[in-house]
Amino acid sequence: MNLKPVYTALKTKLKLTDAASVLMSKHAGISRFTYNWGLATWSALYSEGVKPNALVLKKFFNNHVKPACPWMKEARICQKVTQYAFEHLGQAFGNFFSGKAHYPKFKKKGQHDSFTIDASGRPIAVGGTRLKLPTIGWVSTYEGLPHVTTKKFTISQEAGNWYISFTYEIEPSVTAKSRDFVGVDLGVKQLATLSNGLVIANPQALRKARQQLARMQRQLQRKQRGSNRYHRQKLRLAGAHQRVKNIRLDATHQATTYICKNHAVVAIEGLNVSGMMANHKLAGAVADANFAEFGRQIRYKAQRYGSSVVLVDRWYPSTQLCSGCGGQQPMSLGERVYECSACGFQADRDCNAAVNLEKYARRAKPSLDTEG
Ligand SMILES: [Zn+2]
Repeated sequence: MNLKPVYTALKTKLKLTDAASVLMSKHAGISRFTYNWGLATWSALYSEGVKPNALVLKKFFNNHVKPACPWMKEARICQKVTQYAFEHLGQAFGNFFSGKAHYPKFKKKGQHDSFTIDASGRPIAVGGTRLKLPTIGWVSTYEGLPHVTTKKFTISQEAGNWYISFTYEIEPSVTAKSRDFVGVDLGVKQLATLSNGLVIANPQALRKARQQLARMQRQLQRKQRGSNRYHRQKLRLAGAHQRVKNIRLDATHQATTYICKNHAVVAIEGLNVSGMMANHKLAGAVADANFAEFGRQIRYKAQRYGSSVVLVDRWYPSTQLCSGCGGQQPMSLGERVYECSACGFQADRDCNAAVNLEKYARRAKPSLDTEG
């Protein structure tokens, strides 16, 4: 098997002193200022019939704007911030011109505050709970990091906390597979149901965190919009959202690692899985976001552990098919057990769906199918 270098991304919470938080805010502020300046200038030039690009704007900015802004040159401010702001602006316009995105918008303070820095192409060593950022200096993380090198860092703020993210190359390590094919049915009630009979439950902590989230949401609705109490409650709510997200993410990592390490072919539904589209409830919305993350993890971990992924067509009726005889019958959302009216086969709804996904993969990859 031809193994290409595999990159993986890591995002973790920073443990910052107040002074360091202020420093991060300053960087995010410079990034925002630069991006917004670039966007305003680009728009103005464009309306005059000039076609600018990020590189030209960056040059002008460095020569004429930056020198007039001494606050950008303060001690421990990494000058790479502005370079990346222009790079991101260029990407935003690129996405706009290719029809993939709307016209770029101005960044607002407190909304997706973030910035990117590097060490001019030099690899930066990471590992343990302390890492040295270019110019900014030492910062700590709560979680121990793998001992790897990276080229750049993105630092962002969510719900009052700062996070660092970076990518690094990992050594693909093909593992021995205990099973050729597995179908993975993602759910709201259970995290995932596998065609090998394994049901991966949602962590207990998730239920609690969700209940807390719902309670905070109700409390927010009782507060007067725009009041101090309202804002405080909004922050608390954002924190609770983050907790739910983290718990799910953790469980998803464990599940996807197990699946990709132990199976040669993984069948998983494409986005917008059966019936989930109708779910407008809070829990459903959170779960939907996790489906995309689950799929993303399966794809990169499959590369890492040498398995392949079959993305099942989203219209494939995995819940309606009988995994016994192949017949099809309607299944309402509430029906937890599949009872085939043709052959009498009975199985748990999700388990039946997972087996159908596995069958789909066997048809898609017949060369790998050794069992039949
Ligand atoms: Zn049947």
